[in-house]
Amino acid sequence: MDLGIAGRWALVGGASKGLGWGCARALALEGVNVVMVSRGAQALEASAAKLRAECAGSAAHKSAEILTVACDITTAAGRAQIFALRQDYDIVVTNAGGPPTGDFRTWERDTWLAALDANMLTPIELIKATVDGMAARGFGRIINITSSAVKSPIDILGLSNGARSGLTGFVAGAARSSLAAKGVTMNNLLPGIFDTDRLAGNFAAVAKNTGKSPEEVRANRIAALPNKRLGTPEEFGAYCAFVCSVHGAYINGQNLLMDGGSYPGTF
Ligand code: NAP
Repeated sequence: MDLGIAGRWALVGGASKGLGWGCARALALEGVNVVMVSRGAQALEASAAKLRAECAGSAAHKSAEILTVACDITTAAGRAQIFALRQDYDIVVTNAGGPPTGDFRTWERDTWLAALDANMLTPIELIKATVDGMAARGFGRIINITSSAVKSPIDILGLSNGARSGLTGFVAGAARSSLAAKGVTMNNLLPGIFDTDRLAGNFAAVAKNTGKSPEEVRANRIAALPNKRLGTPEEFGAYCAFVCSVHGAYINGQNLLMDGGSYPGTF
């Protein structure tokens, strides 16, 4: 299937690894020009080089530019660096890693403000900076990587549960604004359990709290999943690319869960 987005420009946050990397990869393989962002310059350049090589070696690939900006996307200075490179993004994937796990009794105001900055206010700033240009050009896709915890909260992820619920409420309204009639869609992708460094960190935190080994925590978690395996960043990226495609034009304002069937509800 031709996704019809070759030649578009995408901004992908948290793109050096994990789910952001999966999204950058799937878009680039579709011929979308991608600006990849993360803080660690070395890992970012290595991931960009790997992706350029994969695109060059792919028979189906339509040529795409792959650029990098090494910065903290959660800061105004970082976002200024990104928009100094270019302003007219057609696709924006908001993502900046997740907040730490912990016990809510230990979180002070500053901890909450950092989580809100990273997981609610940064996506809103990126949306604010790009959607009017998208509307003027008649095409735009906002994808926010949130979490299955928005539907099924996890106690030790209270910072994530809270901040992402705020973003979800904002997007629910903005997606249904006058932008919708101008070809701009906004959706949240809700990952369940995907095999990334972040997940390994969560397993390590649970292991520390329970006295089990991280390997045991991982094995128990997998055994409890309907699919009996973790999701992959490549699968996540493919879903993202479809929602960003011309075929995704009628998907708007949704919270799209991708969790291998873990969510236990009927709806
Ligand atoms: P990951 O493997 O740890 O990758 C995070 C990426 O974001 C890295 O490229 C990291 O690079 C970058 N990053 C982190 N903070 C940044 C910042 N301030 N500015 C720019 N880049 C930043 O994480 P992941 O598993 O892909 O998770 C992505 C998102 O999905 C997170 O919000 C996570 O909470 C959420 N999520 C993941 C899962 C899962 O199963 N993996 C499940 C539910 C929700 P640098 O550190 O070099 O900046």
